[in-house]
Amino acid sequence: MMLVAVRLSMLLLLAAAASASAQDKGTLDDRTLPPLAQPESPSTPAKELFARKTKPDPIAARSIGFYSRGCLAGAVALPINGPTWQVMRLSRNRNWGHPHLIEFLERLAEKAKRVGWPGLLVGDMSQPRGGPMLSGHASHQIGLDADIWLTPMPNHELSREEREFMSATEVVRDDRLDVDSRVWTHQHTELIRAAAQDAAVERIFVNAAIKKALCRDAGASDRGWLAKVRPWWGHDYHFHVRIYCPPDSSLCEPQPPPEPGEGCGHELDYWFTEGVLHPAPPTEPGKPKPSLTLANLPAACRQVLMAP
Ligand SMILES: [Zn+2]
Repeated sequence: MMLVAVRLSMLLLLAAAASASAQDKGTLDDRTLPPLAQPESPSTPAKELFARKTKPDPIAARSIGFYSRGCLAGAVALPINGPTWQVMRLSRNRNWGHPHLIEFLERLAEKAKRVGWPGLLVGDMSQPRGGPMLSGHASHQIGLDADIWLTPMPNHELSREEREFMSATEVVRDDRLDVDSRVWTHQHTELIRAAAQDAAVERIFVNAAIKKALCRDAGASDRGWLAKVRPWWGHDYHFHVRIYCPPDSSLCEPQPPPEPGEGCGHELDYWFTEGVLHPAPPTEPGKPKPSLTLANLPAACRQVLMAP
């Protein structure tokens, strides 16, 4: 019963996931958005409002609402260059997060080196004030989600052009049934293991083929971390890390814990059925899902948005 409900909610999210699976290129052009004709209108999509905020609300950090319905006060930027990380797609201005997320990424970047991964290429985190985005994700709204590329960091400081236009490594095989052994390495497993074993991490989303590979490569002992790694559509060239609600954020809504168990073996069968691997195209064009408005978000997000 629960499984059916989970699958249904996954199907509802399929459209959102599909758009996130494309490897969007960045741009070197000025991305300033034109002003909205009627920003005060109650029907204005919240993503249009939050996308126009280029700076954080400079108050104490707070994650407000749920991962896919909320906003972020007091965001901090992950520096675009660290000792063992680099931020990609700078034109998106999505390297913002709750300080806990920044601390987690710095910890993981350091641990990565120790497990033989040269460094992190960090993709989307959140916008300066969080909130819904114009492209790419249903979640990432409260500064507690980060996408990390499955491409090892090159050994030079990337140019602006490389950060905007370089493609991430597709690690799933063409038939979608397993990882591509030409690009998948044991270090991929060790990096995801290191992330999952961090006490701040609530769960990690990867493509089902990647989960299958992790189940196989994890070894006989020390498999508890696999429970946090869950299959999701897309996520075949990056993995998505979600951290817990921070204690300073009383309005942050936690996610129900994942189902118990490693989620290996037959639990993955559903993801490799024909209908999931090759979904039939809709017979008639579906109505696009209505966008969240400011009224759909927690009331505190209005103050975050309106702050100078
Ligand atoms: Zn993500």
